[in-house]
Amino acid sequence: MTDYRGRFAPSATGPLHLGSILAALLSFLHAKHHRGEWLIRIDDLDQTRCKPIYTDEILRCLEAFALEPDVAVVYQQNRLAAYQAAFEDLMDLGLLYSCHCSRKSLPRGPYPGFCAHRLGQPLDEQWAVRMDTRDLDPSVDDLLLGAQHTERPGDFIVKRRDGLFAYQLACAVDEHLDQVTHVIRGKDLLESTPMQRLIASKLNYRRPSYGHFPVIVGQDGSKLSKQAFAKSVDWSAPGRTYATLARLLLLNDTPAPEEAAIVWREYFQSLNHQESLSRRASRSNTFSI
Ligand code: GLU
Repeated sequence: MTDYRGRFAPSATGPLHLGSILAALLSFLHAKHHRGEWLIRIDDLDQTRCKPIYTDEILRCLEAFALEPDVAVVYQQNRLAAYQAAFEDLMDLGLLYSCHCSRKSLPRGPYPGFCAHRLGQPLDEQWAVRMDTRDLDPSVDDLLLGAQHTERPGDFIVKRRDGLFAYQLACAVDEHLDQVTHVIRGKDLLESTPMQRLIASKLNYRRPSYGHFPVIVGQDGSKLSKQAFAKSVDWSAPGRTYATLARLLLLNDTPAPEEAAIVWREYFQSLNHQESLSRRASRSNTFSI
């Protein structure tokens, strides 16, 4: 076993679609290629949007695709105390402030820092809490895409007004608790990486390496997502789905569905330093279906 631990972290807000299976598969194969471990984390923090029925369906789907984790499945719901502790540590470091801005009062784009003068003041329970980003480094040395530069996010929310810990905070704490060394996920999450890395470095966590791959877009050019009701994958025919994914990644010959899973494994085993995947990843912004 090398020093490698990867993960797939679906939100339990709906069944998996083609894009989520690609994320699961690429993170799984990247881990296996490096003789590492791979785990599944269910992002179920937001109980208004996440449902146990989706969690069950996601886990059964991954099983049908033979994407088996090496350790027990992890649930964000069980980690509220750890998020609270990390939040308090950030507070003690003087990096958080209450934000009284309503969404409507804010311009589009990065947060302009209207409430940044509250830094250092006691936090107010009834407001969202933001983190100071003066030390944020917007560049990402991406394993798949090479050097990337992201737009500065502005001070971002770590605790929402409704009291829920935000994804950026929870995710940074999770990678630490799960000892994740490699995060392989869609390029739509590239902008999140500098924020999660900032939290990790402030809390003295070991920071994972990141690799982002192009996301799949539908015919109208928009990303497949659960919110956009992307079709859930048909798990009665995993081979067919694997063949579709192989076509999207432009593997030379699209294999017959029953061979597809084997081709995938071989494909990754034969990769030298993910060169081939990075070439494909950097050539295309998106995979379209
Ligand atoms: N659960 C989030 C999502 O599905 C986060 C994924 C991640 O960090 O890989 O978009």
